[in-house]
Amino acid sequence: MSIKKEYNLIVIGGGPAGMAVAYSAFQAGVKDILLIERHHKLGGILNQCIHVGFGLHYFKKELTGTEYAARYRKLLSNTDIEIKLSTFVTNVSPQKEVTFINRSDGVCVARAQRLVLATGCRERTREMLTVPGFRPAGIFTAGLAQEMVNIYGLMPGKKIVVVGSGDIGLIMARRLTLEGSQVLAVLEIQPQLSGLIRNKVQCLDDFNIPLYLEHELLEILGKNRVEGIRYRDVKGQKEVYMKCDAVLFSVGLIPERDLLIDQEMTPSNEVRLAGNANYVHELVDHATKESEKIGQEIAQELLGAKNV
Ligand SMILES: Cc1cc2nc3c(=O)[nH]c(=O)nc-3n(C[C@H](O)[C@H](O)[C@H](O)COP(=O)(O)OP(=O)(O)OC[C@H]3O[C@@H](n4cnc5c(N)ncnc54)[C@H](O)[C@@H]3O)c2cc1C
Repeated sequence: MSIKKEYNLIVIGGGPAGMAVAYSAFQAGVKDILLIERHHKLGGILNQCIHVGFGLHYFKKELTGTEYAARYRKLLSNTDIEIKLSTFVTNVSPQKEVTFINRSDGVCVARAQRLVLATGCRERTREMLTVPGFRPAGIFTAGLAQEMVNIYGLMPGKKIVVVGSGDIGLIMARRLTLEGSQVLAVLEIQPQLSGLIRNKVQCLDDFNIPLYLEHELLEILGKNRVEGIRYRDVKGQKEVYMKCDAVLFSVGLIPERDLLIDQEMTPSNEVRLAGNANYVHELVDHATKESEKIGQEIAQELLGAKNV
């Protein structure tokens, strides 16, 4: 397949990290930048985060995720960065060729002098924990449940157990309570919380949702629909049955780097990772700041070269 266009910089992923890399490189003087995003809107995970807690460090204001994303989209709208939305990157090569697909271009290849993967992260699933039981309806990762409720207006269940005490699970425990579900418990196998303390206080304590530390999920019951779970107190070994109709997993995030892994590529000066694709950031402000630095470094490298 022929190369459609050459760019100085291609950024894959239009979440806060990808937007920050592209914007800071542009501000530092880099021309011919392409930003590719598979969704129809820039913003990444922030587009499903309607809770506050974003932007205190970067914008010096407490914003929702959607507000934070909108502010950054506005910055980009005043640039000539080429943005391809609803465009999925299927492959990158060691020669920094990027294969992408969308409705207007079909399958295309573009090449860049510098490539940044800002592809975010994905959630660990029930399968990764190997929890016994059938595969009934009513089992979700917390982030998927967040997308269902906040974007599509769909409720995952009425009586819900959250497994794992990651931030997304804590935030969803509150969200589902506000929407009328009963969140029966958050189970955490470790002796300590894995999310932020502020989220425990604001999302569990304020809504009287119990957190059971050192409690392990043993089995999900139900064949067509979740009917309940069995869990145990790790220390006392006491087993408990709890009736519920949905289970949400909030058991960790994994940086999304399949595009590099598929090609056995490792990050370098020419192919960088930014944001959650590099490591999982608790605060978007940090992801933005680090990504801006990456954009500036790339600009410094490229501005030494001729055709920028
Ligand atoms: C539920 C939740 C709550 C949070 N709460 C807070 C909070 O209160 N305060 C705070 O500061 N931070 C919070 N964070 C953290 C913050 O949202 C992240 O640090 C930040 O979104 C990371 O940005 P990113 O650009 O690396 O990843 P993402 O936002 O995940 O963006 C990655 C983008 O890459 C795109 N992409 C991936 N693969 C491809 C491909 N092959 N082709 C094209 N596009 C692709 C995706 O569609 C996505 O848009 C929260 C995160 C979550 C999940």
